[in-house]
Amino acid sequence: MKGFLSTNDKVHCCGCESCKQVCAHDAITMVEDEEGFRYPKIDKSKCVNCGLCKLVCSYESEIKKHSEEKYVFGGYHKSIDVRDKSTSGGAFTAIVEAFCDDNYVIFGAKSEGLNVYHDYVESKNEIDAFRKSKYSQSNMQESYKQVKEFLQKGKKVLFSGTPCQISALEKFLMKTDRKNLLTVEVVCEGVPSPHYVKKLDDYFNKKYNSRIKSLDYRYKKTKKFFKTVYGHWDFQVMSIVLNNGKHLKKDRWFNPFWKLWLEHLMSRPSCYECLFATSDRCADITLGDLWGVHLYCPELYGDNLGCSLVIGNSDKGKSIIKNAEKFMFGHKLDFNTALKYQSPMRKTINTNEKREDFLKDLCDERMTYKKIVKKWYKKPSLKLLWSKYIWGNRQKICFWNLKNRKRGIKNGESN
Ligand SMILES: Cc1cc2nc3c(=O)[nH]c(=O)nc-3n(C[C@H](O)[C@H](O)[C@H](O)COP(=O)(O)OP(=O)(O)OC[C@H]3O[C@@H](n4cnc5c(N)ncnc54)[C@H](O)[C@@H]3O)c2cc1C
Repeated sequence: MKGFLSTNDKVHCCGCESCKQVCAHDAITMVEDEEGFRYPKIDKSKCVNCGLCKLVCSYESEIKKHSEEKYVFGGYHKSIDVRDKSTSGGAFTAIVEAFCDDNYVIFGAKSEGLNVYHDYVESKNEIDAFRKSKYSQSNMQESYKQVKEFLQKGKKVLFSGTPCQISALEKFLMKTDRKNLLTVEVVCEGVPSPHYVKKLDDYFNKKYNSRIKSLDYRYKKTKKFFKTVYGHWDFQVMSIVLNNGKHLKKDRWFNPFWKLWLEHLMSRPSCYECLFATSDRCADITLGDLWGVHLYCPELYGDNLGCSLVIGNSDKGKSIIKNAEKFMFGHKLDFNTALKYQSPMRKTINTNEKREDFLKDLCDERMTYKKIVKKWYKKPSLKLLWSKYIWGNRQKICFWNLKNRKRGIKNGESN
């Protein structure tokens, strides 16, 4: 297969930026297209045709993946505070805790307003900025170069990102010694066009005279009712804080973002043919939500505060996970069962034939956020609301417990 630099076909560019970072002549810049996705552009006057940009492209040569037997763990961090601040069950924090000794750096995705970018920290106490999934493609800055420099200086490096970013780093490092490197990827269902949140920002600016200061796609703030703890992990609440201090929240089924994105109306073209949507993985460790937890291990549902799927792909990854387990509640899981609930590890996302029309509207300056939502977003049906809110996972588990307690079956045991 050939990459975008050879074919100019956008399906063959995941925007990982390895070509830009490897170019010693600064001949490559990343340029936003009309849909808001960034693609490399070569300045012919600076290019010396060395071919390095193609050498580090995941589309141009074979991608090395771990195909050995996996070690799978499901669970959540022992600290409620960590779970509150994390997307899933806080496994990322447990992995960092297990990895760090005294000479390390940690790379991950940060956000400032709507801007998402990769950066590093030199203390595990500063990983808060990496916590929480930012559902937007991260600008990689100089991160692959920095990883290489740190490894050459003998530092331990934990690099986290999407699967395509991990593959990009692996290609970029070429012959660099990787013994001090741990790669951690998130399961990824693709990245949406950044125009959506820009339109949302314009809408708030018009309505409240203030722009978005911070955006949390998976707000979980714990509530306590008498002695019971309640979270909203399943409802994927989006929380937005504006510069004027206004705090807005919207949950999963009433939020046009989740509906439109998960219908695959605005994903990056390459995500529809993702090279990484397989059970063999590039990274040492894969992290995701433990979807299906209420069906096959309800004892890990944990008050709806989030649960993590943690997969060790390499020996290095497996040994770190085993060390990280002391920071978590949970247990070993069967890989094939977990895989059933993780479609991004089995197949690419479906193409939506309306994508082109939707993006035309999204990119049209005359189409405001309100107009887009009115045209494209359908409110949830009563049937769906019943099954999600009234007869939701929490209620299903309570019912399961009551029914099985009478029959003497404990949580997690199959009948
Ligand atoms: C774009 C995207 C799509 C995802 N899709 C799925 C999915 O379909 N199914 C599923 O089970 N899980 C998915 N995830 C992963 C999931 O949302 C959690 O990130 C993961 O389970 C880790 O949660 P945690 O509680 O362990 O860690 P947290 O502490 O919340 O850690 C977040 C981790 O995600 C990384 N990260 C955050 N945003 C980005 C970004 N924009 N680009 C690269 N890395 C980022 C951080 O560097 C950090 O390593 C997705 C994540 C992203 C970023």
